[in-house]
Amino acid sequence: MVTRPEDATAGVFNPWLNVVSLIERAGRLLQLDDGMIKRIVTPERILEVAVPVRMDSGNVEMFTGWRIHHDTSRGPGKGGIRFHPTVNADEIAALSADMSIKCAVVNIPYGGAKGGVRVDPTLLSRGELERLTRRYAFDIASMIGPDRDIPAPDINTDTQVMSWVMDTISMLRGQSLPGIVTGKPLAIGGTMGHAGATSLGVTICTEGVMKKLGRPLHNQRAIIQGYGKVGAPLVKMLTDRGIIVVGIADVQGAISVPGGIDPEALAKHFAEAGTVVGYPGADDVPSSQFFTIPSDIAIPAALGGSITDVVAASLAATVVVEAANGPTTGEAAAILQERGVIVVPDVLANAGGVVASYFEWAQDLQGFMWERELFQQRLEKTMRLAFDYVWNRSEQLKVNVREAAIAVGVERIAEATELRGLFP
Ligand code: GLU
Repeated sequence: MVTRPEDATAGVFNPWLNVVSLIERAGRLLQLDDGMIKRIVTPERILEVAVPVRMDSGNVEMFTGWRIHHDTSRGPGKGGIRFHPTVNADEIAALSADMSIKCAVVNIPYGGAKGGVRVDPTLLSRGELERLTRRYAFDIASMIGPDRDIPAPDINTDTQVMSWVMDTISMLRGQSLPGIVTGKPLAIGGTMGHAGATSLGVTICTEGVMKKLGRPLHNQRAIIQGYGKVGAPLVKMLTDRGIIVVGIADVQGAISVPGGIDPEALAKHFAEAGTVVGYPGADDVPSSQFFTIPSDIAIPAALGGSITDVVAASLAATVVVEAANGPTTGEAAAILQERGVIVVPDVLANAGGVVASYFEWAQDLQGFMWERELFQQRLEKTMRLAFDYVWNRSEQLKVNVREAAIAVGVERIAEATELRGLFP
């Protein structure tokens, strides 16, 4: 069950209630009627499952998992699966709504969904992780399918986890179903270019916003919070475009390198040390002070909620590009707006991943794999078009980029909902 506005705890940021208020605000801006706004906001289906796993010790442990379909008016549900110890129904519901908006913003034929299991996967052996994944996939099997809902990787889930999901459902249905999940390895129907696609989309949005602001990329300073699937490839992509990456944070700490980080040297250091901390020549920075590092562009690429009101008040950059999902709290967003900081929101900035997933799924359904060049070209084009469309809409509607992106998503969902009518 997701939290209703009347049950909210005052002063505690709730990602679900935050997205509800953003969608409602967009609906009012677009002058949609209340019934339509309610239909768009309310999740279609919420499944909570108990996931029993036999641990290596022989004991059975119970985990809780969810799969939520937020809106499927534009197509099957789409969205990742995350494994994290703080996952809960509100977070998954918020992320599923973000997926509805995101898929509509980049105009791909999907609705929004999300799933997750409340677990710390770093404490599991590989065998335990496989058993957890397969049992969870089985538990949500009734919700997913190539034309129903297509999961993908998210925090702490990767190509191997996707392979186990694909195999479990394929075994269950007695047929090979590559189109049931995206973000798979190449050998079982994955696509070239999926890894790094989110980072490429973030890079295109960074280029886009700096161009609109009339600021050449060369020598702009960026900081990136997170050195994982999205953050790590970003260091190189930004550096290749002349941006100087002057700060990086990961779970173990944060570093500042005013002269700029060398992407290869950092990758080598990380491979040996398992953290960005200790990178030769870097100054350590307390994690709480990370966003105060003097910079022009700040890129949160880690967990949600990292840009709080306190962080927003002292953030040094004038541009934020949200590579993570939900990194900025509602209060923080208001402070950034007041301070004149331009924010490219998650539903636009990190959509490269789901666009790549769409291309993978399309190839799987067609049984015809594309060349890398075609993939790359289409990804870049889709992201540029979406960025320009949202930017123009923000000028027309006289709202910030986040509000414009949500409005674009909501108006496209409303159009589909209206066209399909109300059953029965
Ligand atoms: N987890 C990614 C996201 O939040 C990708 C989702 C997908 O490809 O379905 O956008």
